[in-house]
Amino acid sequence: MLNTSYTGRFAPTPSGPLHFGSIVAALASYLDARHHGGRWLLRIEDIDTPRVRRGADRKIIDTLEILGLEWDGDIVYQSERIDHYQRALALLRDKDLLYRCYCPRRLTKGKPYPGTCRAREEIPGKPYALRVKTSQQPVSFADAIQGRLAGRLIELTGDFILRRSDGLIAYNLAVVVDDAAQGVTHIVRGADLLDTTFNQVYLQSVLNLPAPGYAHHPLVLDERGKKVSKQDGATDVLAGASPETVLLQSLGFLGQNPDQELKGAGKRDILAWAVDHWTIEGVRR
Ligand code: GLU
Repeated sequence: MLNTSYTGRFAPTPSGPLHFGSIVAALASYLDARHHGGRWLLRIEDIDTPRVRRGADRKIIDTLEILGLEWDGDIVYQSERIDHYQRALALLRDKDLLYRCYCPRRLTKGKPYPGTCRAREEIPGKPYALRVKTSQQPVSFADAIQGRLAGRLIELTGDFILRRSDGLIAYNLAVVVDDAAQGVTHIVRGADLLDTTFNQVYLQSVLNLPAPGYAHHPLVLDERGKKVSKQDGATDVLAGASPETVLLQSLGFLGQNPDQELKGAGKRDILAWAVDHWTIEGVRR
């Protein structure tokens, strides 16, 4: 029976083929949703246009199909939802929580933004980013894998960008608007996004959106200890391995100890076993 109080999702950026790390993220979110009898949605996060590769969305969709990971409903493309992000910006503007920032990116990268432009006069004709005002209040959330986490945005990122000076909507805004619009209740994804969760939980509170539950699984690292990434040209795993092998390896990575009996089983049987036996406690931090 469908559990209407659980909606999960996989939300890849189409910057390249799914590598082992992103397959782990897809599988973890799929299994958590299906184990709870919930829905699992697919959203293509294609608003960061410089990172988008033509045809990568199709490749990602094909890979999910080959692995047997079936999603519910229509695939949502963020590039078709810009109006919704603009509306959220207007809402924040009405609450006096937005301001124009003229600081060049290279000056502000990698450290909390000190709020330089908060009190600055508008400079007509000069391109600007839009930042949201953050507060001293700590932001906290419970993560089903990492435990309870708390932090102050002022120390983490400072006022952060919601719309870049080239007009592109920032990931943090789009993701929060879409998760709420799609009724997402549970977010399972890689720990590379753990830091951004503070920004997202804050945006949910100022936009009066419901806060989903979170679980961040550990990252798949390459032999040099670096995160594998679609953008770095990580290879398409299915080019060199069967879907069954990829599923079993991903389950092993997620601490699910696939049964010896699954050796030689088809992908449907592997997935059925994995949905049944899924335990988030099995995933190491
Ligand atoms: N689009 C992001 C990525 O591919 C994931 C977003 C999310 O799961 O919140 O890294």
